[in-house]
Amino acid sequence: MFIRGGILFRSTVLGEIPGVRHGFSGRDGGVSVLPHTRSLNLTVDLGDPPEIVRTNTDIFCRAVSEDRFGAESGVKAHQIHSARIRSLSSADAGEGAVREAGEDCDGFVTDAPGVLPMIRTADCVPILFAGLKEDGRPVIAAVHAGWRGTASGIAAGAVDALRERGCSLSSVRCAVGAHIGFCCYEVGEDFVQSVASLLGHGFAARHIRPVPGAPAGSKPHADLTGMNRELLLLSGLTEEQIDVSPDCTMCAHPALYYSHRRMKGVRGTQGAGIVIL
Ligand SMILES: [Zn+2]
Repeated sequence: MFIRGGILFRSTVLGEIPGVRHGFSGRDGGVSVLPHTRSLNLTVDLGDPPEIVRTNTDIFCRAVSEDRFGAESGVKAHQIHSARIRSLSSADAGEGAVREAGEDCDGFVTDAPGVLPMIRTADCVPILFAGLKEDGRPVIAAVHAGWRGTASGIAAGAVDALRERGCSLSSVRCAVGAHIGFCCYEVGEDFVQSVASLLGHGFAARHIRPVPGAPAGSKPHADLTGMNRELLLLSGLTEEQIDVSPDCTMCAHPALYYSHRRMKGVRGTQGAGIVIL
């Protein structure tokens, strides 16, 4: 279950991992004043001055970490719709948040305390993970799963990354933040073909279909929630280990989330962040 506290939404399932804090932001709580970025935009080059985004990043990191860490702990990368997950050490803290970004990627994994990986989205799927090593120490991961990343298996890649760092599969918890829902995600034939070529026609048919009651000839809608849930279950997680936000970024109250489709590309980004204390 997702619960709103202050400016963040938090997952009760992911919250079961001790020593880890996480959160998903919406539009509220920041200092951006432009109509399309108001108010907690976390990305530069969308219209806000860099110092505004830096202040928002600090607000976000402090909220996620319950005031233990600020922007100097944040890590943002340029996201490229890949399945690439980078491993972070404490030396990477601040990359893309208070200094130049590191290598492009769409996910992070780390067991270093005080490093706060951030994923930024405006309809794509943000997913946060945490698990425990045998000695009880946590490992965290965060991924950006647009449809390409989803179909390339980035969610399962995060589970693999946690296991490679010594987490037992049964200890892993994951939270899928607000993203564009099946209700709103109309797609074209090229999308269907791409998903089918990557994951098979059966997978595509299960998750890309007409909306019930739609007039004949309507374009199908894609279910990114269902796709990621199926891929996470295939990676070995159980339903109980997966928490999913019920919100659609496009049709939830417009004041709540940035949506690339609803705002026709002129928008800010919300964030998903996680950190080991
Ligand atoms: Zn919707």
